[in-house]
Amino acid sequence: MEKQEYQNVYIFAEQREGVIQNVAYELLGKANDLAKELGQHVVALLLGDGIADKAQDLIEMGADEVIVIDRPELRDYLTEQYTQAMYQVIMERKPRIVLYGATTIGRDLAPRLSCKLKSGLVADCTKLTIEPDKDGNLDFFSTRPAFGGNLMATIVCPTSRPQMSTVRPGVMQKMQRVPGKQGVITRFEPHFDASKFHVRLVETKKNQEKVADISNAKILISGGRGVHDAEGFKKLQGLADVMGGMVSSSRAMVDAGVMDHAYQVGQTGKTVRPNLYMACGISGAIQHLAGMEESGYIVAINKDKFAPIFSVADLGIVGDLHKIVPMLTERIKKELEK
Ligand SMILES: Cc1cc2nc3c(=O)[nH]c(=O)nc-3n(C[C@H](O)[C@H](O)[C@H](O)COP(=O)(O)OP(=O)(O)OC[C@H]3O[C@@H](n4cnc5c(N)ncnc54)[C@H](O)[C@@H]3O)c2cc1C
Repeated sequence: MEKQEYQNVYIFAEQREGVIQNVAYELLGKANDLAKELGQHVVALLLGDGIADKAQDLIEMGADEVIVIDRPELRDYLTEQYTQAMYQVIMERKPRIVLYGATTIGRDLAPRLSCKLKSGLVADCTKLTIEPDKDGNLDFFSTRPAFGGNLMATIVCPTSRPQMSTVRPGVMQKMQRVPGKQGVITRFEPHFDASKFHVRLVETKKNQEKVADISNAKILISGGRGVHDAEGFKKLQGLADVMGGMVSSSRAMVDAGVMDHAYQVGQTGKTVRPNLYMACGISGAIQHLAGMEESGYIVAINKDKFAPIFSVADLGIVGDLHKIVPMLTERIKKELEK
């Protein structure tokens, strides 16, 4: 394998029921940074059934080219079908880098491909860069938390191609849409080996309970062990309501059964980047910080003035959240009424 044959930065444009997932736009944003450093192009891989009309959307959000694989076999995500299609397009097009969202689909597809392609994969990355290697040649570096989040490991796959990484939703930033942007749309026809389709989708049952996605919130009022219980979270909800925000949580309150895992911020929860993140009764463990430190403005309320959360806060309030949060809620309500 000649490494030089492998060119351009590709992203897997994940769609579900024909809806392009936010993480695909975020990957396009990062892919543009990487491609610029390398002087190469950004290519989106769009797989599904009846999804060809979504290609222009990806071009407007940052792709120079979209490769569309539009086949009935790809209507729902199934490992073998998607792996076969992705493997063939990668073998033919030879990408330098391929990025996937660290979603349930990306976490299933990327390792399978990595094994088939005999190429490295760095999972759950929080940072991707192009930097000179020890010989001064530009290379692709992926950074991810390691050893329970206690240190950040920067990993490079120097010999194999493509270099692949998964990135959690909410970590990278989307680009501004450029309406009417011109790009190339290419069709790719894979040859499926149906004898290997051992899994069949019989039925899809959706969780009827509507769980709001905290990674899209502009304002998050987040509670930790200092909130104590569900009653305490009602105070946070009151503040979130007047501010037009959502409530999220540290893992401590998820483990305590007070909050659902869907609302957990951090290394084993969601990565969020709201304009305002208000941490109430959260100590600021490294695993929590990993999920929120890129927020626009961070306010921390904690009764311990030495709590590590204050090291990332733009504004710190030392005191009892059970008094401060209701006071703040009333004050903001009054200001808004004016
Ligand atoms: C592999 C691994 C993955 C993990 N993943 C995550 C993750 O995704 N997300 C996550 O959050 N954690 C995660 N953790 C757990 C993490 O290490 C911490 O244990 C957790 O974040 C602590 O939650 P907390 O800050 O709510 O609780 P604590 O650390 O107990 O802090 C409570 C804080 O509340 C303050 N407080 C108490 N009463 C009040 C009051 N009345 N008013 C104001 N302040 C008050 C205290 O001073 C204290 O600072 C992970 C751990 C491991 C090992």
